[in-house]
Amino acid sequence: MKYQTLIGLEIHVELLTASKIFCGCSTAFGGESNTHCCPVCLGLPGALPVLNKKVVEFAVKAGLALNCNIASVCKMDRKNYFYPDLPKAFQTSQYDMPICTNGYIEIDCGKKKKIRIKRVHIEEDAGKTMHAEDGVSLIDYNRCGVPLIEIVTQPDMTSSEEAYKFLERLKSILQYTEVSDCRMEQGSLRCDININVKSEDSSFVSNIVEVKNLNSFKAAAKAIEYEEKRHIDLLKKGENTNKETRRWDESKNKTVIMRMKENVEDYRYFPEPDLVKIEIDSDWVEKIRTSLPEMPNHKKERFIKDYGLPLYDAEILTSSKGMADFFEEVVKEFQDAKMVSNWVMTEFYRSLKESESDIENIKFCAKDFAKLLRLIKRGTISNNIGKRIFKEMYNSGKDPEIIVKEKGLMQISDVDVIKEMVLKVLEEYPESVMDYKNGKGRALGFLVGQVMKVSKGKANPQMVNKIIKKYLDT
Ligand SMILES: [Zn+2]
Repeated sequence: MKYQTLIGLEIHVELLTASKIFCGCSTAFGGESNTHCCPVCLGLPGALPVLNKKVVEFAVKAGLALNCNIASVCKMDRKNYFYPDLPKAFQTSQYDMPICTNGYIEIDCGKKKKIRIKRVHIEEDAGKTMHAEDGVSLIDYNRCGVPLIEIVTQPDMTSSEEAYKFLERLKSILQYTEVSDCRMEQGSLRCDININVKSEDSSFVSNIVEVKNLNSFKAAAKAIEYEEKRHIDLLKKGENTNKETRRWDESKNKTVIMRMKENVEDYRYFPEPDLVKIEIDSDWVEKIRTSLPEMPNHKKERFIKDYGLPLYDAEILTSSKGMADFFEEVVKEFQDAKMVSNWVMTEFYRSLKESESDIENIKFCAKDFAKLLRLIKRGTISNNIGKRIFKEMYNSGKDPEIIVKEKGLMQISDVDVIKEMVLKVLEEYPESVMDYKNGKGRALGFLVGQVMKVSKGKANPQMVNKIIKKYLDT
């Protein structure tokens, strides 16, 4: 029997506001424990919340970018549950009147598919519990009251690949709108998975299982694949899954049970009595709509049209707003767009990956990157030397022209100098010369390589090739 997997996602995203959702405390990441707190976010008796308008604005922005309808009126509710990192014993969230509804994201896994977004609501984050080895638990309330949006999809994804694509797209859209930095390692984007499978004729359906708090897209994909198999195996045995909440155990590569799944009733939602209804002016929404930046899909098409880039390049370059902006800044200074794209997609990406850094933290500027490409295009330095200089520029942020001068890396294009080096190499390797004359073409490559070595990589390789051939063929 064939089975189909149904996957819905719930994504919590921390908004980039400077202050918390109901008080003026800082939202900055880190900081000494329990220093970004006040009576409101600690939930002390008598403290009254005041909604931060920026949070509503950011949620509207995200909702518009995700093709949602924006409510004209919404409200906050209390979601009651007891947990040590939630000092009020309830979370202020939104229940039946979320701020955004019915949106979608288009993904492309070979063919285009719309993943529907059920709702986007605003809520506050909880604190953080740390369990020390001696059995003592410590709580840091700095994160309490940091504004979040929760994005809930319909169960429209049918594979780990689709879920992965969706998450990547979502992250890139949110980064484009600048409502969140989406740093998963700092917890500003967390994802829960709801998954079940059904047989093709719908006669067998497994219960929905929730996998909580995935902190990387890779882990999310692995958890989906693991659950998919577990559900199918149980159904095949005539059993079923429990309605439960599980977590992904990275070290064991499997999901493990956390608790039985709560029902909505368990949370005893009720309207937050300390906050008034939120009225959202449609003119304001339109103003936010016109302030939205160009979204990744449009940018991609424009890159193809304006810069003549292939689809592949355009897709990679526009997947992050930072990278797309950097690319355009370089092209302003150095018009060979394809050459810029090639360098960004190879050397630059590789260096970012190796140093586990991202584009916001680079030490050099677009102007210097353009300078480097100009040096290569003019033949002042060879392509290989260019790579070496890029590495140095990447590590130190130094001007490439200065690196070239300091290290004497200028390409040698002086015919006489190259001739001299060629003659020296030909004299040193008479066997290779014989080989070449006897028809072994490979010997040429060896000889060119030797000249490059003698020149410490600085000789113009095209000229070396030409000059060696001239000597060998006469
Ligand atoms: Zn506070």
